[in-house]
This record gives sequence, C-alpha cells and structure tokens, in this order.
Amino acid sequence: MSKHCFLKEYSSFESEKIWLNFDLQLVKKLGQGNMKFKEVTNEGEHHYSCLHCNQQWKLSDPDHAYRGYFLTVQ
Ligand SMILES: [Zn+2]
Repeated sequence: MSKHCFLKEYSSFESEKIWLNFDLQLVKKLGQGNMKFKEVTNEGEHHYSCLHCNQQWKLSDPDHAYRGYFLTVQ
C-alpha cells in the first residue's frame, strides 16, 4: 500500500460516523485521481484500485444493522 491508499482495512464500519468519515475520504481520493472505481460485482461489492500502487480494494456499503466492510483484494 502506498501513502495514497487507505492506511487500514475495515472489517466492518462500526458506527455511522466512522462510515461517513471513510466515505468522505473515498470521495476525495476518487476526485483527486488517487483511486479509481472499477466495477460493481454481482454481490454488490464496489471495487476500486489505487492508481499509484495498483492495490485493489473492495467495498460493501453498510445498511442499517449490516455494517459492511472495506478490504484489500489479494
Ligand atoms: Zn496505493
């Protein structure tokens, strides 16, 4: 992971505040051209890649009791 990537994975977004802060960072990274949206899978995962180091990430949005995740793709 490079400095442009996210510094940690989220096995779940434990609160709405954590999720909103994460989402704001993601929007900024996309807007600044540090990360790129790739695809939505059949399972509803959003896949992204870092344009600097090519690390792949997968995001599942939280929805009420379901808290989602943001993890690297190996
Ligand atoms: Zn990177």
